[in-house]
Amino acid sequence: MIIHQIGFIWKRCTVVQSNNLWYGRGVGTVKWGLPYSFKHLSMSIEKNSAAPAATAPSSNFLRGIVDADLAAGTHDRPGMPSVITRFPPEPNGYLHIGHAKSICVNFGIARDYNGRCHLRFDDTNPAKEEQEYVDTIMDTVKWLGFSWEQGGEEYLHYASDYFEQLYQMAEYLINQGLAYVDSQSADDMAKNRGNFGTPGTNSPFRDRAPAESLAIFRDMRAGKYKDGEHIVRVKMADDSMASPNMNLRDPAIYRIRHAHHHRTGDAWCIYPMYDYTHPISDALENITHSLCTLEFADHRPFYDWLLETLSAGGFFTQPVPRQFEFSRLNLTYLVMSKRKLRQLVDEKIVSGWDDPRMPTLVGLRRRGYTPESIQLFCERIGVSKADAWIDMSTLEGSLRDDLDPKAPRAAAVLRPLKLIVDNFPEGESIECTAPVHPHHPEMGTRSFPFTKELWIEQEDFMETPVKGYFRFTPPTADKPGSRVRLKYGFITECTGFDKDADGNVIAVHVNYFEDSKSGTPGADNYKVKGTITWVSAAHAVEAEVRLYDRLFLDANPDAGGKDFKLALNPNALETVTAYLEPGLENAVADDRFQFERHGYFVADRVDSTPGKPIFNRVTTLKDSWK
Ligand code: ATP
Ligand code: MG
Repeated sequence: MIIHQIGFIWKRCTVVQSNNLWYGRGVGTVKWGLPYSFKHLSMSIEKNSAAPAATAPSSNFLRGIVDADLAAGTHDRPGMPSVITRFPPEPNGYLHIGHAKSICVNFGIARDYNGRCHLRFDDTNPAKEEQEYVDTIMDTVKWLGFSWEQGGEEYLHYASDYFEQLYQMAEYLINQGLAYVDSQSADDMAKNRGNFGTPGTNSPFRDRAPAESLAIFRDMRAGKYKDGEHIVRVKMADDSMASPNMNLRDPAIYRIRHAHHHRTGDAWCIYPMYDYTHPISDALENITHSLCTLEFADHRPFYDWLLETLSAGGFFTQPVPRQFEFSRLNLTYLVMSKRKLRQLVDEKIVSGWDDPRMPTLVGLRRRGYTPESIQLFCERIGVSKADAWIDMSTLEGSLRDDLDPKAPRAAAVLRPLKLIVDNFPEGESIECTAPVHPHHPEMGTRSFPFTKELWIEQEDFMETPVKGYFRFTPPTADKPGSRVRLKYGFITECTGFDKDADGNVIAVHVNYFEDSKSGTPGADNYKVKGTITWVSAAHAVEAEVRLYDRLFLDANPDAGGKDFKLALNPNALETVTAYLEPGLENAVADDRFQFERHGYFVADRVDSTPGKPIFNRVTTLKDSWK
């Protein structure tokens, strides 16, 4: 991939070339187009090799908002970037491809506007959170190519670092009569909350004197009560309990939870709620644009109210952060909810969170996806407010487009059948040469021996050929056997085949033409319609190859409350013993190749051992799901 910056007289435009497609972005315009529309501008192209983006960003409504804020100087503050975003995962599981969208949106905007993006762990629920998840999330964000460091400063934060401030602000709200301790039972509270369309009922504790609420709140902190005995709720307005937005019916901001926290240990037995913690954390970190998914749109009025109220109380200065929502990523043939992914792991349907069939980023990484392909995918799907299902083929296509220009080629036989070259001398070999990449001569050449016994694919021989079959077919009474080119080797003619007692073809016999070697002058004298891949039996690398496919057969496995486990693809993993081109025994974890005609493969990063790689099929060469 090549990234160019083009400086026009009247505007700036970024263009990306990926394969044959060029993508471009000018300020205010987006172009998805053909090469020539940009090519004749190439004299003004200056290469920007330092550009960190894997793809040029397309304009979208969020960037439009940022552009407008920059123009208006909304977030101009001395010594601070005008764009500060954050990615706020809860450390309660592994990140999945949906999170990648959010990461690319938040870190991508910060990067492109010379701002910064904070990584913040929203760790306010001690029961579900663990250090293990914190570690893997940090590792994954880095792997994706993003950094929370800027100017030598790390912007790695934890909501739990703000527990004391959050507590003080809650005392302030109570003192102001804007929050109260509610001592209803959980059942009564649920009942009194009302329903969608039915207003709620005020809690009998709603008018509790601030001094009384404050005393109880302090005792809550001191550990004098059991879980669930009291909670703290906010009253935004007198008639909040009648709000059509259920989220505004006196939202809870603190609860009692006697639980060990992975960072604060046993220092606290009351924990702030997410809806309360999130805006305050944003404000404490001087976030400018708090970008989140659409389900938080209904929470925005509370977000705004809380920050306005607290800045009026002197806790923050204006401008406070603003929240903007975009649609979640839904991908066909996958489930994305952490709960369902956990079920697949717990019930051992997959081998773990990093099983190469999982939509987790650790799974996709192990499967062989590159960070660039995921960034490219996120760029292609764009950002909007429209809820849509993205087809899995878009993700696979991004991977192919990323790997095609950079993956070295190699021969591999996945379902082997012996090919015996009868007229080739036993024990001898002839070196054959092939490009590492057919379109990139600078990547060099590779070589491998041609010998008497070779491996070919079982499907490259047909005893009784169907129409249009151009690979090996045996001689018949009125016709000689077919002629086929062994790629980068010789032309051969089929002379016969052997079967075992059960009638299975176990070997194919051919003669080769000495003067037909690829790349030699005589090679052109032969015209054949079939070319196949092969490896020398004596030199081939025997390796376990895992042929992964989609985990589900149904495009929407969990739509409408369906049992997603009924849609599992029983053939999502097939393991074969394959014969690979010599040299591949040296492949190390994460080395990727295109096995000619089969697809893209990666040396498994977990199970490969030195000298004995195990390969995963990342994806086939073409979309076979059409
Ligand atoms: P899940 O619902 O799968 O358990 P979550 O939303 O609870 O995920 P968080 O750790 O809270 O997971 O998410 C961190 C951020 O990632 C949030 O800002 C959330 O909006 C965003 N995010 C989660 N899932 C998606 C998705 N499918 N598409 C885009 N962004 C997502
Ligand atoms: Mg969440």
